[in-house]
Order: sequence, then structure tokens, then C-alpha cells
Amino acid sequence: MAIRARTPGAGATPARPPRGTRLRTAPQPARLPPGIASVLSVLSSSAVVVDSNDRVLRASAAARAFGLVKGDRLMVSELAALARQVRRDGEIREGEFEVPVPRFGGRTTSFAVRVAPLGGAVGGGGLVLVLAEDQTESRRVEEVRRDFVANTSHELKTPVGALALLAETIEDAADDAEAVRRFAGKMRQEANRLTSLVQDLITLSRIQAAEPVPDPRPVDIEAVVAEAVDRCRMKANARGITLATVGGRGLSVLGDEDLLVTALRNLLENAVAYSPEKTRVIITTRKTAEGNAEVSVADQGIGIPERDLERIFERFYRVDPARSRATGGTGLGLAIVKHVMAAHNGKVTVRSVEGAGSTFSLYVPLRSEHDGTGAA
Ligand code: ADP
Repeated sequence: MAIRARTPGAGATPARPPRGTRLRTAPQPARLPPGIASVLSVLSSSAVVVDSNDRVLRASAAARAFGLVKGDRLMVSELAALARQVRRDGEIREGEFEVPVPRFGGRTTSFAVRVAPLGGAVGGGGLVLVLAEDQTESRRVEEVRRDFVANTSHELKTPVGALALLAETIEDAADDAEAVRRFAGKMRQEANRLTSLVQDLITLSRIQAAEPVPDPRPVDIEAVVAEAVDRCRMKANARGITLATVGGRGLSVLGDEDLLVTALRNLLENAVAYSPEKTRVIITTRKTAEGNAEVSVADQGIGIPERDLERIFERFYRVDPARSRATGGTGLGLAIVKHVMAAHNGKVTVRSVEGAGSTFSLYVPLRSEHDGTGAA
């Protein structure tokens, strides 16, 4: 357990209180100043009030659930020491420390702590307020963000590096028209890869920043399917893959048509990219018993190993990175699908058998008669 206490204001304070200085006074009945109890009840942090005898006068349910308080005792000795320091000199202190939380099977949880005298300066009844904020979620979010920035930089560096190298090669081969043509083609490929990546990053940041869809409108699912199929037709034709649509007339949802087309197009592009030539991709639209529009994309492709199914919706996760790059994949397609579905209060599922094929299904709640602006 580590604690780093710091005083926000001026004035140095000792890092630790002197040992053995606890006063052995007879317990005095202490009371909370008026109004404090109602303030504490609305705080989201774990809140504890300690009296002049180091006894807990009041503790929020969270403070007890995290095991910071048991009975009328603060269970973390560093916290109790900090409370005594604050009571002695009246200075507000802050710190961070790790505590094993029994509720989480003893796993340590990181808390940001603020300790302040209650009711003003030194001697103001000796009450001290301890506020502890669970940092687990904010740490996790920060870690995910850092990973994403690192991964994005790495993904951007690859095509940029390739472009620089190809430009150099073209310079060296300036007299060889055939070589120049070949390398210029490769440059175009890398530039396209860069464009797709930047486009996917923009889409991803747009939907992540705006959950749920900011200005939902009635969207006809049949039109979404037609548009997405249209945009994939060329890639499918180039590989002799048939795109066949089945069912689903007159289904309408509330949402953002462009985002729904993007989600379905990503599934179709994957179905084409991860299937052998001359196979079939079937797009089935139907209404489910739960009142969702369901659009499934079933391919006869390479399939996805069971152990990877959970992870393919993570940003930049690929089962086979070399194959993904070879097909121009960015590793962001399914992450975009997942976020688009979340923004529409829907979901995406996958079933797959290695070597036999995959079926991805989108579910979006159907628009009820009372929803939206009236237009279907
Ligand atoms: P990528 O740009 O690499 O295709 P995605 O996020 O769209 O990124 O997909 C993540 C990974 O999931 C892919 O790299 C691939 O390994 C796997 N995958 C996605 N769709 C399919 C599919 N229809 N068949 C087989 N594997 C797939």
C-alpha cells in the first residue's frame, strides 16, 4: 500500500505523522455539524467523518463496501494517520493509495483521497472529513486511450514509411520507365491505405464522441442494404463473389442512415475479403420477435477461431494481421460496427465455424408509430 500525500496549499508537511502520538482521552459524544449529513448523502465518493478520538462518526455505504471502514474504525492505517495530521494542523491533504478490496476478492483498488478538517480550522470539534474516489475506471479508460494512441501511431507509421521508401526508389529508378510505373502503383496502394485508415479513425471518433446518435431520423433498412451492397459490388465482382439479398421489406428504424450503411458495408467488405473467390455472401433482412430489424451477412469464408471471437470487435485486433493488411484492412471495421450499433441502441453478434464461414448479424430496434418525425 502506498500513499503520496501532498498539501494543495503552501507549507511543507511531514510525509508521515510521528508514531505513538494517539491521545488516550475518554470518548466524547460527537455530533455532525448541521447540514453536513445531507451534503455527504449526495456525494458520489466514499465519504467518512472521523471524530477527535479516531472513531468513525459517519461513513457512506460505498466506504463500507470498499472495506475502508468497519464498525467505527478506519481500516486503512495510512488514512487514519492522514486524518490525525489534518486534525492537528488543519491543512487539507490529498493523496493516492492502493487498498485490497474484499468485495473484489482482495484485488487492490486505487483511491484518490482528500482529507479536510470539518467545521474550519484546528480545534473545530476535531472532526475530519475523508473523501475517497475509486480510480479503477478512470485508470482503465486512460490505459485504453494510451494504447489506442500508441496503436494508431504505429498503424500510421507503416504506410507513411512505405511511401517515403517508394519515393526514394522511384528517384533511384528515374531512367527505368517500367520500374517507375510499378512503384508509382505501389505508392497509390499505400496512399489508399492511409486514406482508409484516416477515414476509419474519423468515423470512430465521431461515433464515440456522440453516443447515442445526435439527430436520429427514420431510416428504411431496405435502402441501407441496397446502398451498402451497391458500394461493395465492385470488390465482390473482382473476386467472382455473389452478393445475394433476401427478405425484409418496409422495416424502419430511427438513426443515422450514413452510419448504418457504413456498419453494413464494413461487414460486407469483410465477408468478401475473408472468403475464397467464386463463393456467395447472403444478406438476410427480417423482423425479430423482440421488435428489432435484423440484417445478417453470411459468408462461406475462412471463418474465425473460437478463441478470437470475443476480441475481433476491439480496435486494431486482427486474427491474421498479414492477411488483413493484404486485403487493405485497417483493423477498425468491426470496432466501428460495434459503436454504430451501440449508438443505435442495438447490437452486433457473430457466429463462425473455422474453414466453413461466418455470419454477422446487426440488430436495431424497429421504429414504433410514436417515434420520430412521422416520415417512414
Ligand atoms: P480488418 O480491417 O482487419 O478486416 P475488422 O475490424 O473489420 O478489421 O476485423 C477484425 C478481424 O476480424 C479481421 O482482421 C479478421 O481477422 C476477422 N474477420 C472479420 N470479419 C471476418 C469474416 N467475415 N471472416 C473471417 N474473419 C473475419
